[in-house]
This record gives sequence, C-alpha cells and structure tokens, in this order.
Amino acid sequence: MISADIELLTRTVPTGLFIGGTWGESSDGATFDVIDPATESVVRTVSSASTSDAVAAVDAAAAALPSWGKTAPRVRSEILRRAFELITERVEELAFLISLENGKALPDARAEVRYAAEFFRWYSEEAVRLAGSLQTAPAGGYRIVVQHEPIGVAVLVTPWNYPAAMATRKIGPALAAGCTVVLKPASDTPLTALVLADLLTEAGVPPGVVNVVPARRSGAVVGTLLAQNAVRKVSFTGSTEVGTTLLHHAADRVLSSSMELGGNAPFLVFADADVDAAVGGAMLAKMRNGGEACTAANRFYVHERVADEFGQRFAAAMEGVRVGPGYAEGTELGPLVNAAAREKVASLVEDALERGARTRTGGAIPDRTGYFYPPTVLDQVPADSSILGEEIFGPVAPIVRFSQDDEAIALANSTEFGLVSYLYTRDLKRGMRAAEALQSGMVGLNRGLVSDPSAPFGGVKLSGLGREGGHEGMLEYTEAKYIAVDW
Ligand code: NAD
Repeated sequence: MISADIELLTRTVPTGLFIGGTWGESSDGATFDVIDPATESVVRTVSSASTSDAVAAVDAAAAALPSWGKTAPRVRSEILRRAFELITERVEELAFLISLENGKALPDARAEVRYAAEFFRWYSEEAVRLAGSLQTAPAGGYRIVVQHEPIGVAVLVTPWNYPAAMATRKIGPALAAGCTVVLKPASDTPLTALVLADLLTEAGVPPGVVNVVPARRSGAVVGTLLAQNAVRKVSFTGSTEVGTTLLHHAADRVLSSSMELGGNAPFLVFADADVDAAVGGAMLAKMRNGGEACTAANRFYVHERVADEFGQRFAAAMEGVRVGPGYAEGTELGPLVNAAAREKVASLVEDALERGARTRTGGAIPDRTGYFYPPTVLDQVPADSSILGEEIFGPVAPIVRFSQDDEAIALANSTEFGLVSYLYTRDLKRGMRAAEALQSGMVGLNRGLVSDPSAPFGGVKLSGLGREGGHEGMLEYTEAKYIAVDW
C-alpha cells in the first residue's frame, strides 16, 4: 500500500530546474539523489543547478521584476490567496511527500503543510496594507513622504527541516511586497519546493517571478546567485555556520540580509509550575518535528523541587511515542533526515553519559534500517556536556536541575544563541519578569509552541538577523523611500 503510494506520488513530482516559468535540466547535466530516510533508498533523482543556471535564474527574476513590482497589490494578494487555497486542498499529498523526503511523521508533516499555507494567506492579507507615511518636516516648509518599495530580486535559501514552510515564509512576503525570487532549497529535500513551484504557477504567479534551483553544489551556486548585480536581498534559514558565510558574500555587495539561524532553546520549569502543563509543553517543544526544529527545546532547566516528578512524567510520555516510517499511519516519530544527523545526536548522548548523565529512557541507536533514534530523556546532565552547548536536532531531552530562579535564567542565557526560550510558572508576574530577562527573540510563557505566521519570528545573538512572519516579515522585502516634497 505504502510503496504503491510512493510510486504514484513521486511519478508526478517535477525533478528539473524551474527558471522563467519553464522546467529544464541542469546546463551541465548534473543530478543528485533524494533519499527516503526511513528506507535509505532513492526516491527521485533531481537536476543539480550549475553556476550558469544560477545566472539564468537571476536573469529571469530580474526580467520579471518591473512588471511584478507594478502589479496591483490586490492582484498579488489574490494570487497568494489562491496559492493558500491550493495548498490547503492538497494537504495530504504534500504531507506525504514531505514525510518521504524528510522523514517526519505524517502528523508533523500535515501540521507543516497547514503552517506553510498560512504564510500565503497572511501575506495575501498584508499585500494590500503596506502603508507609508506623510508628515510636515519639523522645520516646516515641506513634507516628508515615506513609501515602501519592493527591494528587488531576492535570493532565498532554505533548510531541509521544514521543506514547505521555510519556503512559503519567504516567498509569501517577497511576492506580497512586489519582489521576484530565486529559491535554492536544501539538497536533502528539494521535491516539496519543486511541487510548490508548480502550485504557484497554477495560482497565477507569472513566469520568472518564482524560480527554483535545487543544487548539490550549494556553495558555488549560492555564491553565484549573490554575486549577480540584479540581486538586492538574501534571506537564509539554516545553520549559523552557513549563515555567517552568506553574510560575508552579502557584505561584498551590501545586500539586505535576513538570517534565521540555529537555536539552543532553554526550557525552564519553575518550582510553582503546573507539572502536567509543563510536560505537555515539553513534548511539543521537544518533539514537534521529531526535535529537528530550530525552535526545539534543547536544554531543560527544572527546579529541584519538581525535577523528579517532571523527569518521570516526561520520560513516560516519551516512551509512549510510536516510532516508524514517517508516512506510515500511526507513526509519531520518524527517522532523522540522514546518517550524519543521527551520528551527531548519538555522539552528543554518549558524551553526556560519559560525563555522568543518567538515562531515563532511550539513548541507543536501534538495530533497523533507516536513520532512527529513539525518544530519549537524560537527567542530571553535567554542565560541561556538549549536548547543552550544541543544537541536538533530534528527539533527545537533557535535564539539568536548579535551585534559584536567577541561576536558571543565567544558565538559560549562557549561550551565544538566542532564538526562543520556554518557561513554565503559575505566577504571571514571575513569568513576565523572567521572559524579559531571557535573551531570545521569542519566549513561550506556559506554551511549548510559539511559531505563528502573524507574529515576528526570529532570533538575537548568533540566532539571526531580521524577522519572518507578521508585518515585520514583509518590511524585510522593502526599502523605505523618502521623498521631500515642497508644494
Ligand atoms: P544548513 O546551513 O546546512 O543548510 C541550509 C541551506 O544552505 C541549504 O539549502 C543548504 O543546501 C545551503 N548551504 C549549505 N552549505 C552552503 C554554502 N556553503 N553556501 C551556501 N549555501 C549552503 O542547514 P540545514 O542543516 O539545512 O538546517 C538545519 C539548521 O537550520 C539548524 O541549525 C536550524 O536551527 C536552522 N534552522 C533555523 C530556523 C530559524 O528560523 N531560525 C528554521 C529552521 C532551521
């Protein structure tokens, strides 16, 4: 049944480069394989863009820019609305595809597709609300008119962990603002982005407005994209390491840059927390997307008074998670995306255990095909363990105990990252004080999930620059033009 579904679905998925509204092969014939992480077998073989394909994609985006920038906001809005509707009609098909190339369980994949669609709905609404301003100059005599213009051709580079949502979170605001784009999806998961290209065409996006260039040679292709004169913007989601490299490229051409980078989210449980609610929040914050999320809770700081109760209940909930191929109905946790990702998770766990951490559940690679790793809870993790300093990106929860709130906040802030923090307390005053003291772009206060297309998503410190989602997300694709008017 499942293999028949896979065969049927993948036969219709495009595998070429999408440039200027048409499908083509790579100019040098290069290809790469997309692997199903549950079976380690090849799903499809996809064209791998060359640097000359990168130039062609920017040329197509540049050619489409003047007319798209002048297209009435209402028209752009309705195209995005149609794209929202088309994705919503195809939740099952897209979820299955995401699960196939990324490994995530269907409930996570369905949630991603709905989340991805919401960016098109939100930005269809924002497209017609890009207000500027008018004021009298303080010295009098003339007016200050400010309007927001499309910034130009935008290069979008996305990661494998949310193949649909990280693309729509960028394409939505870019198109709403009147920009044209070249998208370079992650090499592990290009298929979803290619289907999105088809879907956007069906929604009415004109040729050249959205171009998609999968590429195994990411460094060379993205470097070439950013070096083109027509490009004025780079929006990247991925690791801090690659983001830093792209910022160097951006500096050479003074490109506007939005960077959604790595996280190392602390999850604080204060002594007065509702432990049931904290366990529910921990399951969401840790296990959404199998732990492969930049927002995933990476370090659990739990007050010593509730640490045993929290640890036991959390471990019991983790033990109940059903592991299997992501696309099999009933699966709650699929495999990790690839062998290297699983190796990293396993080595972080081993390091913590060698330093004296205690296993509450999980902790060992199962003997089966596929890049599986079990839900794992480690307790009393020593402060010098690598797992507390690095992004785990897997279903592993390390717990550290604390005795004073200030100590927990200091521990939470003792990282170069600052994407999101979570905290549980019944006392809202205490919670708001802590939320203000936490150094992160987002805080979940008695909530294990913060992502929302209508809210500004983003980090501080090494977690990034700029915001995606909300009204702020669209301003990232505009330039303020000030006109001094004497009338
Ligand atoms: P990655 O940095 O390895 O890759 C991201 C993208 O960059 C991919 O498209 C990849 O092909 C491309 N790339 C890789 N090397 C490149 C190079 N030298 N030059 C140009 N492009 C290059 O990240 P990943 O492994 O795909 O994703 C996981 C990371 O993404 C994690 O660190 C996670 O925290 C982060 N992430 C952040 C957010 C956020 O919103 N802050 C969201 C999702 C993921």
